[in-house]
Amino acid sequence: MKTIIEPFRIKSVEPLRMTTITEREQYLKEANYNLFSLKSDDVLIDLLTDSGTSAMSTKQWAGIQMGDESYAGSPSFYRFESALKKLAPFKHIIPTHQGRAAEKILFSIVGGKGKVIPNNTHFDTTRANVEATTAEALDLVKKEGLDPKLEHPFKGDIDLVRLRELLSTRSEDIPLVMLTITNNSGGGQPVSMQNIRETKALCKEFGKPLILDACRFAENAYFIKLREEGYAQKSPKEIVQEMFSYADGMTMSAKKDALVNMGGWLALNDDELAMHARNMLILTEGFPTYGGLSGRDLDAMAIGLEEVVEEDYLNYRITSTAYLGNALDRLGIPVMKPIGGHAVYIDARAMLPHIDPLQYPGQSLAIEMYRLGGIRTCEIGTVMFGRQADGSEKAAQMDLVRMAIPRRVYTQSHIDYCIECLQEVNANKHRLKGVTISWEPPMLRHFTAHFQI
Ligand SMILES: *Cc1c(COP(=O)(O)O)cnc(C)c1O
Repeated sequence: MKTIIEPFRIKSVEPLRMTTITEREQYLKEANYNLFSLKSDDVLIDLLTDSGTSAMSTKQWAGIQMGDESYAGSPSFYRFESALKKLAPFKHIIPTHQGRAAEKILFSIVGGKGKVIPNNTHFDTTRANVEATTAEALDLVKKEGLDPKLEHPFKGDIDLVRLRELLSTRSEDIPLVMLTITNNSGGGQPVSMQNIRETKALCKEFGKPLILDACRFAENAYFIKLREEGYAQKSPKEIVQEMFSYADGMTMSAKKDALVNMGGWLALNDDELAMHARNMLILTEGFPTYGGLSGRDLDAMAIGLEEVVEEDYLNYRITSTAYLGNALDRLGIPVMKPIGGHAVYIDARAMLPHIDPLQYPGQSLAIEMYRLGGIRTCEIGTVMFGRQADGSEKAAQMDLVRMAIPRRVYTQSHIDYCIECLQEVNANKHRLKGVTISWEPPMLRHFTAHFQI
C-alpha cells in the first residue's frame, strides 16, 4: 500500500471551538496582534509550536499512573535514565523542567564575558541564555542553509571551515561547540552524520566538548536514514545511537522528541562539569533525581523515548510534514526546501516582496492566517532576530513563518484545511500590509511585543 496513514487511532477527543472571522478580528485587536497573546481556545488549528503539544499514547498515560513521587531516588528517575541511556549513554543525566533550564545551567557554568559559543544556528532560548552571561552566540551554519529555495539534503550542517578558523584563532574563548539537531531556527533542517562526525573530530583536535542541542534527534535520525548514504538499512534507533556516540553531552527539550508535554534534561560525560551542573540544578530546579519534574513526567518521558524512534511513527511524522509543505509548494507559495521535520516554513519575504523586512512580512502573514482561518503560526524572522545589541534594527537573514506540526495531534483533513486557507491568503496577498511594533520588552521581544497594523 502506498498511502501512509496515521499509525494510531483516536481514543479520546478534544473538541475544537469554531470561531468566525469577525470574532477573530476582535481577538487579534485584544492581543495587540501578537499571536502569543491569543487565548488558545480562540485558535482553531494551533501550529504555533510543536513544543509540549504532542499527544501522549495510552502507554504513556498508563506510565503516568506508575509515577513515583519520592523526593530522592524515585524509580521513575531510574526508568527514565535507563531509557535514555539506551539511546544516549552519557555518564551524567540531569533532568530539568524543560530545555532552556538545561541551557541556563550549562551556560551559567561555561559562559561569561569574552566567551564564544559556536553552533550551526542557536535556537532563540539558547542564544538568550548564552547572551545572558555576556558571552557571544555565534551561528556558523553552512551557506546552503541560508538559501530557503535551495534543495540540499543536509542544510543544518555546520560550516567546518569557519568552525576550524574560529577554533584556531579563539580557542581559549570557546568552552564548547554545539550542534542543533535538527536545526530549528534554520528551518528544521537536518545535520548529516558525516557533519556530526567531522565536527567531533575537529572538537577533539582542539580539546573541546561537542554538545548536541538534540530536541529533535529522532527526526534528524530519520532524515539521515532517508538521505545519507549507508544508512538506509539501519534502524532509527541505531542511527540515534551513532549520533550520540560522537557527542560529549546534550541539552534536551523533552517537549519535542520525547513526546511529552513538559520536561527536559542536560546530559554530560564530564564529571567536573556535571558536579557544577547538579549544584546549580539544586539551586534552580530541584534534587538531581527529579530536577523540576514530577516522577510521573519522568515515566512519560521514558516511554516517549521508546515510541519516538519507532520507524512507523517517524515515517508518518516526516511524510505528513512534507505533505503540507509540498501542497503549498504546488500552490506557488514559497516554502523553505526541502521540507523540514517538524514544521513547514513559509518564506514570507519572498511571498510578500511589497513589504519591507523592517515592516515584518512574516508577522503580517501570520496575522492574516489567523484572521482568515483561525490558524496560529509563528514568525521566525525580523521580529524574532531583528533587534541588535545596540538597540538598532536590521533585517534578519530570512523572514519565515513557521507552521509547526504538533506530534500525533492533527489529522490529514486538518492539514487540508490549512492548505485551503493558505491558498486563499495567497490569492489576496497583495492586499497585506506591513506592521509596526508599538511596544517591546528588553529581551525575547517576539513573545510579548505589541504590533499595529
Ligand atoms: C525548544 C527548543 C529549545 C528550548 O527548549 P524548551 O523546552 O522550550 O525550553 C532549545 N533548542 C531547540 C532547538 C529547541 O527547539
